[in-house]
Amino acid sequence: MKTDIKSLTPQELGAFLELLGEKKYRAAQIFAWLYKGVYDFDEMTDLSFSLREKLKADAFIEKLNIEKLQVSEKDGTRKYLFGLRSGNAIESVFMKYKYGNTVCISSQAGCRMNCAFCASAALGFAHDLTAAEMVDQVIAIEKETGERISNIVVMGTGEPFDNYGTLSRFLELVHAKEGLNISLRSITVSTCGIIPRMEEFAEDFPQVNLAVSLHAPNDKIRDTLIPINKRYPMKPLLETCRKHTEKTGRRITFEYALIKDVNDKESHARELAERLSGMLCHVNLIPLNPVEELNFFGVDRKSAERFLGLLEGKGIQATIRRELGSDIDGACGQLRLSLKM
Ligand code: SAH
Repeated sequence: MKTDIKSLTPQELGAFLELLGEKKYRAAQIFAWLYKGVYDFDEMTDLSFSLREKLKADAFIEKLNIEKLQVSEKDGTRKYLFGLRSGNAIESVFMKYKYGNTVCISSQAGCRMNCAFCASAALGFAHDLTAAEMVDQVIAIEKETGERISNIVVMGTGEPFDNYGTLSRFLELVHAKEGLNISLRSITVSTCGIIPRMEEFAEDFPQVNLAVSLHAPNDKIRDTLIPINKRYPMKPLLETCRKHTEKTGRRITFEYALIKDVNDKESHARELAERLSGMLCHVNLIPLNPVEELNFFGVDRKSAERFLGLLEGKGIQATIRRELGSDIDGACGQLRLSLKM
């Protein structure tokens, strides 16, 4: 079987080259080509002919295919549907923010978490992505847009902490100075709250930002929305979050999708504020993107602002997420879903 060369760290690439009887230092050159978006060993023009032939025989370069691209007329948001070699598809989004170009990437084809309001759940789980499939979302988007990407959020399809080994490798790869050289502080990983992996993550990547999909002020509501809450309920979850901020000194983000008549009441805002009180955190309120096939509805701007005001009144930092690309299929998994149905 050929080696998936894009999944290798510069160091591993060096070891691979030695196995081929080549000089280790060539690794930096090859890594740089891969991360520039070169998909053909013959385009690596500073390598000898014989090395290119060896690479062709023993390795392959992962490449995602753009199956569909939607571009927002309003704000330039670009949403990609990428085809994988497995025949499955994943989504990635390119967004322009004041602080830099950001991509939202997927960590799995599908998801095992089954959150009640999420489009990905409707499609089930196909497979974990490889590290190369994760990084190529970034590389392919840089290539297609011709723009540099400075920020990454792992908030697309999948639960990144359900694919932790690959997530760690991905973080190492995009951070490598021979390639994209993206600062760990410019990366955010979002989880629905897998406590043991959150603890590991605080040890392994204290500079990477953590976002937690909370979406509820108590277990009674959270149990109905996020099945994994039964295994990792809110008390230990919030305790883990608190420890994370203490260990890393970094503010944690809580995502809270406002769902009409489910978690949007004044009492919910109060309860949430109480539970987050004193934590170094920020609440990101997201008016739910209604998924047609599921029976949940979002709230209007005024209700979101009221909820925001209640949190702020209790000293909790919060914002309503700016809606980018609202004129193209918005919610997570919707592009993939619309293609399938
Ligand atoms: N599994 C990870 C990351 C992927 S989901 C996690 O749970 O955090 C990225 C975010 O989008 C999560 O906060 C998720 O709860 C949210 N989300 C999913 N479906 C949504 C919808 N229909 N409307 C708004 N947010 C949604």
